[in-house]
Amino acid sequence: MNEGPIVVAGGGGFIGGHLVAHLRSQGSAPIRSVDAKPLDDWYQRFDDVDNRQLDLQRLPDCEIAVEGASEVYNVAADMGGMGFIEKNKALCMLSVLINTHLLMASRDAGVEKFFFASSACVYAEDKQRTTELDDGLREEDAYPAMPEDGYGREKLFSERLCRHYREDFGLHTRMARYHNVYGPHGTWDGGREKAPAAICRKVIQAKLSGEREIEIWGDGEQTRSFTYIDDCIFGTRALMDSDVDEPLNIGSSELVTINALIDRVERIAGISVERRYDLTAPQGVRGRNSDNTRIQEKLGWAPSIPLDEGLERTYGWIRDQIASRVVA
Ligand code: NAD
Repeated sequence: MNEGPIVVAGGGGFIGGHLVAHLRSQGSAPIRSVDAKPLDDWYQRFDDVDNRQLDLQRLPDCEIAVEGASEVYNVAADMGGMGFIEKNKALCMLSVLINTHLLMASRDAGVEKFFFASSACVYAEDKQRTTELDDGLREEDAYPAMPEDGYGREKLFSERLCRHYREDFGLHTRMARYHNVYGPHGTWDGGREKAPAAICRKVIQAKLSGEREIEIWGDGEQTRSFTYIDDCIFGTRALMDSDVDEPLNIGSSELVTINALIDRVERIAGISVERRYDLTAPQGVRGRNSDNTRIQEKLGWAPSIPLDEGLERTYGWIRDQIASRVVA
């Protein structure tokens, strides 16, 4: 058994930062955290971790990143919310270089297990055209393939490359299809943020400024489920420790409309806001939920943290970020 470090690729990002924090709390193998961003821009950084700034689109940087490693978690990608992925399809697809070069370097370095963060954006668009998705998306719905253009297509290709690295080269690969992960220590402004963080920010700013109107993308009736970060990390670790070598949904099945999401944030904030609907803004698919039958079968577990609980923590963290910016 290889006693080398566990590598988190994308450790300066939202999910990567939480993963590193969790692995530290387990106190097992040494951890190496790698990201392209300057160290000062990482959401979470720990002095007892081997932190490296490397560009993982480049093969030589991947070779440095995984040298001597026992396990690799690839949660690095050039990504963001709908506003980013609809307008940056080429950039999203270039993340294929990260996963491809990490797989190549991992195989050569004798890595035992490799995790890839895939996405619900791999699912066929024609299965997501209505808001009534009681059953949610099942893993087999990804084929015949008609994923979200750009970002989703790259994820589906990279999942398949992971599978063939297992079949052809014996590298144990694990793949999770994350559904809308949210929580503290993630992007909340700047254009790459996702709906929960964006709505928290808009409501907080409305409360602080007294200007009670906020802009909503679409008519607000599109549906989604949102997965709190602690569930995402627990599921990721459970999947990595399992022998499940097919892609698994890691997503909440608590389906809400965007309007209902705003209602909940309003309740936390203690105010109500005027909603101005922008029907020309990027909206993504009409409805998306996670079917958790397979993860229940395989891991005996599924995400369960209620949206209200996760939103309360996320709202509090974003409110503190805004407050510290105002003071600075
Ligand atoms: P994030 O943007 O916060 O983190 C990704 C990190 O990857 C960033 O810190 C970024 O600097 C880093 N990165 C980008 N290009 C790099 C490169 N060339 N070399 C090294 N590092 C590079 O995003 P996140 O929300 O933490 O997402 C993590 C993973 O999970 C991604 O693969 C994403 O596609 C996937 N995912 C996330 C969600 C979600 O809702 N957050 C949903 C589905 C899938």
